[in-house]
Amino acid sequence: MAQTTQIAVLGAGPGGYAAAFYAADLGMQVTLIDVEKNPGGVCLYRGCIPSKALLHVAKVVDEATHASKWGVTYGAPSIDVDKLRAYKQGVVDKLTAGVGSVAKLRKVNFVQGRATLTGPKSLTVKTAAGNEVELVDGGYCANNPTLYAIADATGSLHKPVEDLRVVSIGVGTYPEPKPGLMMLFAKKYLLSVQLLQKTLEINTQSMDQLRTILFGHVATIRISDTFEKPEMATDLMEHDLKKLNLLHQRGGDSFAGREADLAAFLR
Ligand SMILES: Cc1cc2nc3c(=O)[nH]c(=O)nc-3n(C[C@H](O)[C@H](O)[C@H](O)COP(=O)(O)OP(=O)(O)OC[C@H]3O[C@@H](n4cnc5c(N)ncnc54)[C@H](O)[C@@H]3O)c2cc1C
Repeated sequence: MAQTTQIAVLGAGPGGYAAAFYAADLGMQVTLIDVEKNPGGVCLYRGCIPSKALLHVAKVVDEATHASKWGVTYGAPSIDVDKLRAYKQGVVDKLTAGVGSVAKLRKVNFVQGRATLTGPKSLTVKTAAGNEVELVDGGYCANNPTLYAIADATGSLHKPVEDLRVVSIGVGTYPEPKPGLMMLFAKKYLLSVQLLQKTLEINTQSMDQLRTILFGHVATIRISDTFEKPEMATDLMEHDLKKLNLLHQRGGDSFAGREADLAAFLR
């Protein structure tokens, strides 16, 4: 069965689904493809969210242990691993279903299946039901944290450090928008929102600091500026097109500011 689409986004991780939502908001017809049941990618299914759900439990156990110093002593914890896994899975299911609903609301055509590129403007998707769908045109390449890329290159592939040149392009750092009443409530009482918030705090910046500590000797240009003015306040849920265009311009300016360095670096 052949289908046409203006944009096909392969991979529904945070990079892919954000790109798909943005394109849909701009009025484009978008197909988002992933092997998982819902969008979410490594971050929601296997990375940030499940690890933070478990870290939260570990923190509670750790704090309870240390409470003896303050005169409050608990017994040794009894850990029901299956229940713990079910709790972690519950958080993952809730958040990925939530992103799935947002995709529907934005009229993004989400296709569950494994995609194979068949040409510069076409790909086929083997769906969960065993059907083969051919999609024509478009595509995005989602980002990957530089930290892992360098670790892969040096640790796993044993590439010599002196052969590496890394260009790391971020989205920039912006002030947090003032939360509405609903968001204030969600941040105070909803564990899933608190976990997501925590995930975003341990974000690209900390990953980049870790890169500097571990791989400071690897030649790198990082393009990701800080915009402190309150009117630049934004987050991943930003949907004001005027502001998104402004952010896009700021991204272009950041890039232009490093263009000469980049040319020299890549020569
Ligand atoms: C344990 C762990 C903890 C982490 N914690 C944090 C954290 O606290 N904060 C943070 O900022 N980041 C964290 N990360 C990193 C974060 O998960 C990644 O940066 C993020 O997921 C990258 O998003 P992405 O959209 O680029 O790609 P991914 O999330 O990798 O998404 C790619 C998607 O493409 C799909 N796909 C691939 N090939 C095909 C195909 N042929 N057909 C269909 N679908 C396909 C995959 O199923 C996947 O869903 C963590 C990662 C790990 C592993």
